[in-house]
Amino acid sequence: DPRIIAPGATREDEAIEASIRPKRLDEYLGQVPVREQMKIYIEAAKGRGEALDHVLIFGPPGLGKTTLSHVIANELGVNLRQTSGPVIEKAGDLAALLTNLQPHDVLFVDEIHRLSPAIEEVLYPAMEDFQIDIMIGEGPAARSIKLDLPPFTLIGATTRAGLLTAPLRDRFGIVQRLEFYDAEELTRIVRRSAQILGIACEPEGAAEIAKRSRGTPRIANRLLRRVRDYAQVKTGGGITRDAADAAMAMLKVDPQGFDDLDRRLVRTIIESFDGGPVGVESLAAALSEERGTLEDVIEPYLIQQGYLIRTARGRMATAKAYRHIGLKPKTGTGG
Ligand code: ADP
Repeated sequence: DPRIIAPGATREDEAIEASIRPKRLDEYLGQVPVREQMKIYIEAAKGRGEALDHVLIFGPPGLGKTTLSHVIANELGVNLRQTSGPVIEKAGDLAALLTNLQPHDVLFVDEIHRLSPAIEEVLYPAMEDFQIDIMIGEGPAARSIKLDLPPFTLIGATTRAGLLTAPLRDRFGIVQRLEFYDAEELTRIVRRSAQILGIACEPEGAAEIAKRSRGTPRIANRLLRRVRDYAQVKTGGGITRDAADAAMAMLKVDPQGFDDLDRRLVRTIIESFDGGPVGVESLAAALSEERGTLEDVIEPYLIQQGYLIRTARGRMATAKAYRHIGLKPKTGTGG
């Protein structure tokens, strides 16, 4: 995805994120209710000498689901094994992961909604009773054996809670929803990253980057690196508000953090569908984007910011959206 404000991780992000990813709860900025709750649950589990209950974390990409999972494991003082839904193809893959855990370890399953139904079945008794049934051999000689597992914590991450089957969701004792970060929280995240990466960044420069980062730390950290490049070459100094502003203009990210795709989406609803409501399939087709990308990546921020509303009959542009592209709102338009 070539978008500078795409929330998914690029290779460059992954390389850098390893060094700037918070390791402890007190470095995990923002998400105050989540942090306070997790602090209590972690302390309580440690106090009892038990594994932490299974945790489901949901929220759009780049908000800190993987980071929080690592933070939880660090705070518990245990290892974290990482995998993802689509990677676990056979029951044996899952069995191998589970039987290799140490007591109280964390197994982090990213994109947990993409587990196959057969794997989910294996996971239920593992989560509930720390046991798995696996088949040994084939044909008439095949038999099933029960294996005891060490008590462990499953942390599942998904972009939307609604993607999970009810039986899987019901097996998580702790469910946390991550919210978009506000500008003040993102400013702190940018300043922290700048400090770790040795980038000179004035508070106003950090605030300007934060404002345009769609409430998403991954995007903030990526924009920080691009603004650093710009400042280094064009102004030969650190990141000031002016440098950030000019760099964003070059990247075509507007003061609301919209890029061409966002503007195209807003324009399409208003100009091709008379402001909506328009069904997600029609909208995706008009934009030549996948429905999933629209729902998981583009829409959530526009909805949260009040540019778009989701109704039973489809998406509608609000008055704020009309104004954003310089049009007078239709009468009767919400927002
Ligand atoms: P997700 O798993 O939800 O896609 P990540 O956990 O990979 O997102 O977060 C992306 C990057 O954003 C991380 O590498 C980290 O540097 C930064 N980040 C995420 N959450 C926070 C936070 N609460 N405080 C500081 N930085 C964060």
